[in-house]
Amino acid sequence: FDDRDGFIWFNGQMVPWREAKVHVLTHGLHYASCVFEGERVYNGKVFKLTEHSRRLTESASILGFSLPYSVAEIDAATRRVLDANGIVDGYVRPLAWRGSEMMGVAAQKNRINVAIAAWQWPSYFSPEARLAGIRLKISPWRRPAPDTAPTHSKAAGLYMICTLSKHQAENDGFDDALMLDYRGRIAEATGANVFLVIDGKLHTPIPDCFLNGITRQTVIDLARRRGYDVSERAIMPEELADAQEVFLTGTAAEVTPVRQIGEYTYTPGEITHRLVEDYDKEVGRTHDKAASASASAA
Ligand code: PMP
Repeated sequence: FDDRDGFIWFNGQMVPWREAKVHVLTHGLHYASCVFEGERVYNGKVFKLTEHSRRLTESASILGFSLPYSVAEIDAATRRVLDANGIVDGYVRPLAWRGSEMMGVAAQKNRINVAIAAWQWPSYFSPEARLAGIRLKISPWRRPAPDTAPTHSKAAGLYMICTLSKHQAENDGFDDALMLDYRGRIAEATGANVFLVIDGKLHTPIPDCFLNGITRQTVIDLARRRGYDVSERAIMPEELADAQEVFLTGTAAEVTPVRQIGEYTYTPGEITHRLVEDYDKEVGRTHDKAASASASAA
């Protein structure tokens, strides 16, 4: 991914893509002192840009560092990156990390670096998988307790268990993993939140040890506007047997139907399909499904 044309905003400068490099003794690389965001661009505009820039700042603050740029400056830099790369439908990856000035666990004086990259990326899961529903495997790795890790920061270190979980699920022929939390409750997928439909009502876990996703909040709002009952509560894995529909929500995943979790199978139904459509409308997707499928395949 490093050998391509384009520009990355790097500590205030627009740098050619291939030259946006860090030193091997970077603290963020050794000790995971790094936070990031994932944003989606629709028709040239980032959906909920300021919410994401604010979450980046808060994630850093939870890890004990402050960004050398304000939320408004990060918003403006993001728009510059979209312009420089001509992104109309794509993905944005801002990140911030402690630099290479000192090597050791403590690094209070290391420079805080910030970079923002963006690229054309119409769909996270393939369009076919997205419409048919994806298959999840329950991960043996659990989301840690809030006093074990900074669970409300979108911190790079927390993704170690996500990568382990996702690789294991993929190696077993699934698309993604469903992770339980330290109490054995259903938590989330490796990069998206989860919803169950049980007897016409929506149920989603309380985000007390994982991200309260921006998409999750948007979808709860859309569902309530549709008149659906949404319950945020503790959900045990046994309840997967009671669900008729399941879907994931996330910036990259958008609203993705799920057709299998371990031994349980589901058929994406009316509620999921309505929310897929409502989300598409909310983000301002203008092209139809066929156009979106061919764009994703390109
Ligand atoms: N959980 C995890 C682990 C994620 O990486 C993401 C994606 N940022 C989400 C949930 C969903 O968050 P959002 O809707 O804000 O993208």
